[in-house]
Parts: sequence; structure tokens; C-alpha cells
Amino acid sequence: MELTSLKGIGEKTAAGFEKLGVHDQKDLLEFFPRGHELFFEPETIGEIGYKTFATVRGVFAEPLFMRRVKKLSIVTGTLRDEAGGTIKVTWFNAPYIRDQIKTGQLYILKGRVSHKYNTSGLVQPKIYTPEAYEELKGKMLPVYNTVKGLSNNQITTAVKQAMAGEAFELLDREDILPEVLKERLYLIDKSRAVKNMHFPESRQLLSEAAYRLSFEEIFLFILAMKKNSDKLLSDTDIVIPQSPDTDAFIDSLPFELTGAQKKVIAQIREDLCSRHAANRLIQGDVGSGKTMVALAALMDCAYAGYQGALMAPTEVLARQHYDNFTSMFKAAGIKLNVVLLTGSMTALEKKVVYDALEDGRADIVIGTHALFQEKVKYRNLGVVITDEQHRFGIRQRQALAQKAGGKGSIPHTFVMSATPIPRTLALILYGNMDVSVLDEMPVGRLPIKNAVVDESYRKNAYSFMEKQIRNGRQIYVICPLIEYSEGMEAANVTDHAEMLKDVMDDKVKIDILHGQMSAEKKNEVMERFASGKTDILVSTTVVEVGVDVPNATVMMIEDADRFGLATLHQLRGRVGRGKEQSYCIFVCSSHSKEARERLEILLNSNDGFEIASKDLSMRGPGEFGGTRQSGALSFRNFDIQRDIHIAEKAQEAVEEYLSGGMELSERERAALEGAASAAAGSILL
Ligand code: ADP
Ligand code: MG
Repeated sequence: MELTSLKGIGEKTAAGFEKLGVHDQKDLLEFFPRGHELFFEPETIGEIGYKTFATVRGVFAEPLFMRRVKKLSIVTGTLRDEAGGTIKVTWFNAPYIRDQIKTGQLYILKGRVSHKYNTSGLVQPKIYTPEAYEELKGKMLPVYNTVKGLSNNQITTAVKQAMAGEAFELLDREDILPEVLKERLYLIDKSRAVKNMHFPESRQLLSEAAYRLSFEEIFLFILAMKKNSDKLLSDTDIVIPQSPDTDAFIDSLPFELTGAQKKVIAQIREDLCSRHAANRLIQGDVGSGKTMVALAALMDCAYAGYQGALMAPTEVLARQHYDNFTSMFKAAGIKLNVVLLTGSMTALEKKVVYDALEDGRADIVIGTHALFQEKVKYRNLGVVITDEQHRFGIRQRQALAQKAGGKGSIPHTFVMSATPIPRTLALILYGNMDVSVLDEMPVGRLPIKNAVVDESYRKNAYSFMEKQIRNGRQIYVICPLIEYSEGMEAANVTDHAEMLKDVMDDKVKIDILHGQMSAEKKNEVMERFASGKTDILVSTTVVEVGVDVPNATVMMIEDADRFGLATLHQLRGRVGRGKEQSYCIFVCSSHSKEARERLEILLNSNDGFEIASKDLSMRGPGEFGGTRQSGALSFRNFDIQRDIHIAEKAQEAVEEYLSGGMELSERERAALEGAASAAAGSILL
């Protein structure tokens, strides 16, 4: 069902949806909000301090004032609350507000706080009468990811319309979950689940909806994996012996490999000469030294006369691996030819690399998914390693084998991940893979000092940061959002960087980084930071994946309570990589005791696996998901930490189905089979 058949959606709006991955009404229905806007009791103006969002109640004693700056209209006024506090309020391009507001009348204002020029002010807040606000209290309004030209309101309206149409009815008719399962496991109907993900009738129903959708997703995943796993035991002619040159290189390193690194390298080497195409997951916490393990495998591969590929999730990371490898090889006098291939390279630059890969001059190639575009031809691909976040589907694996020269020469594949997947879950999800664990950290690092603070601590934090910068150190500040997003009361990179520029010493150089920047721009920013030209990098979690700048010693995470603990632990792993003492400051803007206690788990443990196992279902509605979006596995609804018990139930159900023990109608069986084969493309190998 087309999007444009909905009222108010023309080509332009549809194009906006396209960018969000929403192509039709079915996608739209399953485009769930990133959280829900909640309506709390207003606070007093005096309590705002360094907060970035606030809800206050008060009156305007004087009429609002409007001025024009070029085409921009600016309406300002001063709100006074019952406790006598005052705050300046500003609206841009909303001249009608001046007539809307009556002096002396009580309003509730909800919005962003700016801290420019050492005074705080409310910017573009939403206005409610006390009655209207009272109505909203306890409600949960959806907050979607938006793009330019497509507002949260437009998405909300579109979803409501789609929910009244045929696409919505089809949800239940095309549901893949058999009736018996739904009854036995108390899984609500698909349409009801979808409705409640957008517009929860209650918190209870929101979690029932999440449970149902999570079950469906993981059930299908396990089913598809079981049905296809026999196809994976593939023989290969690619036999790679262990090379004495690799060993000599390892001996020449300034450090000794950890016991875990040695163990995993040995496991990989066994794979490489076994005549079975390796299919191994290498799991290791941030900083456990996965890169060296990858490098050893790639070197063995190259010395055996095959080509090795390392695929990274971002250009920044690919480039960093490339710089790292080439400088290590240079220092050790190693002649292997390492090349870089990323999407943002010019056609000419790419051509040079394509040629080197095709005629075999390139021994090791590092890049993003550009490595597996159609145009790329390898002379003899022997090993493929993917770092973080990426996974191959069965189809990609077939494509890889083609690249490697067809049947008989299936390359060995390894996936490296820092996502701490609990053991019980790993057994379920990776039934078809071998797993190696790097369970030991390199020695000689100073442990990171951690603090969980509230917003009143910002002042201290900033003078501490200035001191670190004077000592030549660098700092990451992480915000959950890229830019101000209506209803989402969380710090955003754009405004936060402006705020920091205001409160920090003028000499401090501040840069921003986020996922919506072009690849070139991101590279530039990262390179400036890596070379020490930037003091503070304000970023979203894009820095989470593997970036290595040893001179960065402070990690300050805004709205830390919005992130999953696994993500926070990954972020923390960006510091503590050099000789200097490092610090991680988790700013908790939530007033809830649970939120704080959850963060405090991070103070007491530096072990990703332990942290993950303690981070159970504490993330409630209105909060950002944790590992759903990161790590080697990316699920839409299933949460690796929260939903282990769901995976267990799903596995039982899959076994029952496969053994023929489940009572199904013809339609149900067909739906399941169809969905399982469609899902095969995204199963981890
Ligand atoms: P991750 O597992 O997070 O990918 P990296 O491979 O980036 O970790 O390694 C983190 C840092 O530790 C790098 O700077 C690397 O050079 C260094 N390193 C790796 N192995 C060792 C070791 N055995 N002893 C000391 N430092 C090491
Ligand atoms: Mg890494």
C-alpha cells in the first residue's frame, strides 16, 4: 500500500519517509517511535540550573515583545513562577504567539533550556494551559526519528491514518505467529501490538506489545537459522598455513600478546588449515585487542598468497585500521601491500584499488561495505574479517564465494564483536558458529575513574575539563540526539556544542560529529580530533564503534540514563587507551532512583559481560534502547540483554515446530515457511 494514498502525503513527504527506510504503509506501521514523550509535574525555575530541558509553570506579567531581524521574527517574554523565579522565553518565527499569550494567566511551558551568555532561557517551548497539561499527564506521545522536511507531527498523523486502513488489517491476516503459540505464551495480536508501540494505552500494554514483537522477531530468526544452518558447513580449498613471518612480526611488537590473544590466534590458525571454511565469532570487550588478532590472520593469509579483507562499519574506523596497519608494517619493515577502499574515495582512487585487487598486487584490503560492491573483483580472497556491527547473510556469503572464485574456494570468515552477548543467548543465536572469546585485557593500563553525577555538577566538570585541555588532553562529550527534536528531552550535539562554546574558555576548540554527516565530513572531523587539533569532540554514539585516540582522557556522557549500559560501557572504552589517567563522567538527568542505581553498576564493574548481565529490563518506556542498535547483531525489536527469556521460549517453539509437534493450519504453515526463507538473508554466519 502506497504512502501517497494517505492524506497529506505527496511526493515530497514520501521522499522524506524514504530516507527513514519507510517505503510503504506496512513499513510505516512498523516504524516505531524511538521513545515516548512523557508529561511530568512542572519544576520551579530555580531548579533548572544547568539542565537542558525543563517544564515550568508561571505567568507573564508583561505582554510579550516582538522584533524582527531580517526575515526572522523573535517573540520574547519573561515568565515568573509561584516561587518567584524568572526565566526569559524566546520563540522564533512564531509571531502569533504574542497574541495567544495573555498576561497574568497561568501557563505551563515545556522546552529546551539554553545557557547562552551565562543566563538560562527557554527556547521555543510548547505552551499548555494548566487544564490541557493535566489532560496530558500520564499520556505517552510517540517521538519518531525525523528528517528534514518531515516533522514528528506529520509522522504521527500518517501513522494514525495508516492504522485506519487496509495495511493495518493485513497485519493480523498475515501474522506469522500460529494461534496455538499466541494463546500459550500470551502474545497479543499483531495489530494490537503495533498500535500500542505507537500509542500505548498503558505502560503494561506497551511492554506486552514489545514482548510480542520481540518474540516474533527472534522466533523467526532462530527458525531461519535452523532451517539453513546445514548449508553452512562448506568445504574449501583455501588452506592457509601459519607463517613464521607473522610470528616474527608479533615478536617485534612493543608489547606481549595477552594469553587470550594467543589462544584465539591459535584457534583461528586451526580453522585456516582445516579445509572447512571458517565461520567464527571473535568476542572481546572493548580494548581487549581484537585488532591484533585480525591482523595476525590477515598476515598469515597474505603470506600464503591469498588476499585478506577487513571490513569496518564506518569510514573513520576503516581509515584508522589502515593507518594503524601501514605504520606498523613500515616500522617492522614488512613489505605486504595494504590498500584502503571506502565509499567516499573518488572514482579514480577506487579504480586504482580495484585494479590492485584484481591483479593481486594488493595483499590486504581494509574498507567499509564498499569492499563487496559488484565492481570489486578479487584475485584470490582467502580471509574476510568484519569488525563490529556487520554481519553477513547467507546470500552475502554466496556472493562472497563468487568473489573468491566460486565453488571450492569459499573464504574463511570471522566476525569481531564487542557486544557482550550472554552465554545462554550466544548458544541460541550462534548455534551455527564457532565462538572465540578474548577474556583477558592487556596489562599496564590505568583503570578509568568513573563518576555518576547530576546536572548541578556540570560547572565543576567544565573547569576540570579546561584543566585537562590545558594539560594537552582531549575530551569526548556524548549526546543522545543530533539536533533538537520536538518532545525528546535529551541533549543534542548541535545545541550542546554551542552551549559549551559559551561556557568554555575561548581558546578551547570544539567540533561536532554525528551520523548524518557525509562520510568525508566525518573523516575530516575524526582526523582533526585524532591529530590533536580539536580539544572537545561533541558527538552522538557514532564514536562508539572502535575509534582509538589514546590522548583522549575524558568521556562525558550527557543523559547517560538514556543509553543502555552496554552502549555506555562501549563509549567508556574510547578513553583509558593511553598512559594518562582517564575519566568517565556519566551525567544522569533523570531524577529516578532506579536510573541512578542502574548507572552505578558501571562504577563497580569494568567487565562488559558482567555489566550486560546486570542490565536487565530496567530500560522503560521513553528511554533509548541499548544493544538493539549496536554490536554484531542488529534487531529491531529483540533486545539482546532484556529478552533472553524470550529467546529461550522462542527456541523451544522452533524445536516443537520443526519436529512436527505443533498444530497448524495450512495458512499458518505457509506463512511461517515463507517468512523463514525470506529471513535467511539476514542470518548471522
Ligand atoms: P578492541 O578489542 O577494542 O578492538 P584494539 O584492538 O583497538 O581493541 O586494542 C586497543 C589498544 O590496545 C590498541 O592501541 C592496541 O595497540 C593495544 N593492544 C593490543 N594488544 C595489546 C597487548 N597485548 N598489550 C598491550 N597493548 C595492546
Ligand atoms: Mg576494535
